[in-house]
Amino acid sequence: MLARCLSASLHGLEAKPVTVEVDLAPGLPGIQLVGLPDKAIQESRERVRSALRNSGFRGPLVRVVINLAPADRRKEGPAFDLPIALGLLVASGQLDRPKLDGLWCAGELGLDGSLRPCRGVIALADLAMQQGARALVVPPANATEAALIPNLNIWTAHNLKELVQQLKGECPLVRIGHHPSPPKATPAAIPMELVGLGMEGMERAAHALALAAAGGHHLLMVGPPGCGKTHLARQLPLLLPPLNTAESLTISRIHSVAGEFDICEQLLHQRPFRSPHHSCSGVALLGGGHTPKPGEISLAHSGVLFLDELAEFPRPVLDLLRQPLEDGKVRLSRMRETTVFPAAVTLVAATNPCPCGWHGDHEQACRCTCSQRQRYWQRISGPLLDRIDLQLRLERRSSRQIRTCLDATQRPQTHSPWLEPSRVNAARERMQARNPSGCNNRSLTAADLHRHGQFKADGLTLWERVIEQRRLTTRSSLQLLRVARTIADLNGHEMVQTEAIADASGYRCTDLMGDHSAGAVSR
Ligand SMILES: [Zn+2]
Repeated sequence: MLARCLSASLHGLEAKPVTVEVDLAPGLPGIQLVGLPDKAIQESRERVRSALRNSGFRGPLVRVVINLAPADRRKEGPAFDLPIALGLLVASGQLDRPKLDGLWCAGELGLDGSLRPCRGVIALADLAMQQGARALVVPPANATEAALIPNLNIWTAHNLKELVQQLKGECPLVRIGHHPSPPKATPAAIPMELVGLGMEGMERAAHALALAAAGGHHLLMVGPPGCGKTHLARQLPLLLPPLNTAESLTISRIHSVAGEFDICEQLLHQRPFRSPHHSCSGVALLGGGHTPKPGEISLAHSGVLFLDELAEFPRPVLDLLRQPLEDGKVRLSRMRETTVFPAAVTLVAATNPCPCGWHGDHEQACRCTCSQRQRYWQRISGPLLDRIDLQLRLERRSSRQIRTCLDATQRPQTHSPWLEPSRVNAARERMQARNPSGCNNRSLTAADLHRHGQFKADGLTLWERVIEQRRLTTRSSLQLLRVARTIADLNGHEMVQTEAIADASGYRCTDLMGDHSAGAVSR
């Protein structure tokens, strides 16, 4: 007897339909799996056999052939356990065939028949909805994810026995209602103060953060240990605009495919902040594997990717970032197919100025030799640095400033005017109104800058001087204009004043090896 059950396999962020066909035929008992299954699916034979027996059903005592159609596409993961088990029950006459009509399902089975979560359920639910599924059955731990997709019946059960009872009508179906994406949150009223840091001496850092948030610019912070680099980076997602429905669905989908979906709703409301350790591999950072999974840069999509101790990352790993930072997506090519994951992030990197960390400090002496410092900076490739628009030198805070911090815990928090959400939002709105494509200032092309930049003539004269003095590359020179445009937007100016160009030049450290001379160019 033949039975069919519908499910799907993952390809990047998309799910593609798979029909699980189960055929029972006379012959020696055994289960044969065909249709390019991976090791995890091969092993499902044993899991399904035990799950059926322990749930009180008869295991197959004849020859069983299971086909995962279409047969020319690779399938992976344990999510086919449930459709295989249901197919076996129908084929062996323990469940009526019409019960499976139009029913989509996915889930891993425990040996006791319990239903365990699998990855990529949002993509599966989306596909099932498009294909007009009668209902989708998912494990309880995946129910919240599946419910993000509207117009789809979601059923769940704790174990196989319970599910079969529900399908037979012996007990009521457990339906999960559509759980809409988060409501559009209004911008947070305050969170912009640098809690615990005190704003004293941090104005420049606050300005750089506001620029990164408003214009989407990448940011590099160079400073001695303990000057607040990590803390500053963590403030950035709070300054970014609230997620819209499409963005939050995409982010949830990426996390679901990576198997990182947490039922906690924070993820859906908040922009991601990912901070991979410097020992992470290229695959962990960009994604990859036999069946490609998204890496840290895709998990940070629409949010912030923070690389602390930038110089400690292996240089080949950092070099892999260059293309995704430019394109906003990662392209992973495997033998048979190419998978594309979104990766539009704001990169925030932090590093010490030298191996000991104290080069350029006014009080503490640096113990490194010149060649040690050079080697340290050579680990970060020039082309990557070239892609970072804002380069900020942070100083160690003086004892007086730390004292102010302590006092700040006694009195109301100090605010920086740059970190007012309303100000950053206003700058972003100005930017979007000007750019018809709606892209941020970081992504402006040379033609866009020429058309909508609105630079004053003497500003451009200064710009040319900066290029000459610093011997800037074409990319860096354009970045300088983009940053100047954001500075003007943040100040509420239509035209880009000469001061904005001078200010922007202060965010390009030509000599990052701890030299202080790389400040703003005076007029
Ligand atoms: Zn040093």
